[in-house]
Amino acid sequence: MQGGGLPSHARRKILPMSAKIKMGILAVVITLGVTAGVAYRRYVYPTGKILHDLYTVRTHNNGMPMGNFFLLQMGDKYVAFDAGGNSEETRSGLQRLGISAADVIAVFVTHAHWDHIGSLDVFSDAVIYTGNTENSSFPDTPHRLMMDGEVTELFGRYIKCFYTPGHTIDSVCFLVDGKYLFVGDLFITTNDSPFEARYNKELQLRYRKQMLELDGVEHVFTGHFGLFSNPGYFRFRY
Ligand SMILES: [Zn+2]
Repeated sequence: MQGGGLPSHARRKILPMSAKIKMGILAVVITLGVTAGVAYRRYVYPTGKILHDLYTVRTHNNGMPMGNFFLLQMGDKYVAFDAGGNSEETRSGLQRLGISAADVIAVFVTHAHWDHIGSLDVFSDAVIYTGNTENSSFPDTPHRLMMDGEVTELFGRYIKCFYTPGHTIDSVCFLVDGKYLFVGDLFITTNDSPFEARYNKELQLRYRKQMLELDGVEHVFTGHFGLFSNPGYFRFRY
């Protein structure tokens, strides 16, 4: 055979095929990388109104969407559940929603990690509520304590505190009117991992199960995985 190589028509076929394979591999690699990258972030809600009486601000870390905190409307006043980690971002989020920080009368804090309390200073007029302070890492700022099972009434709405240690030893959840459950990082991820030395996975899973078994809950609001609604609970193993 002249030239010892493949006929030119075969080479033409082989070269494009090789390029296609390379492109295919590249596409798979990119897809896997992007999928892994967005898996955590895809549940994070953009800043906006998410229910008729509920707003959220999206928080970021190094420019990437990281989590949410929430604002419950009560007439012309608001109650926040957690506060975000960056004051500048919290201020601009409120501005985007048309909500004045002065109208936020209370902030219910699920736990004292920076991404949930770093911008509490924005809500200087609000009463800060949190839970169990035994071994608490809560900063030395004025705050009110709620006991496990205690209910606070604000503008005719009832906010109940549940002690739910695990993610931190002093984590709590808040249930509004028996329907909206704010869980902070009790549902941090489907692949839970320690965030601090006092992290206790066994406790976290136990209290997660307990929260999922509450009757009448319509929506669950997480710090990093957006909102999920009954009967969507199955997404989280416990
Ligand atoms: Zn968090």
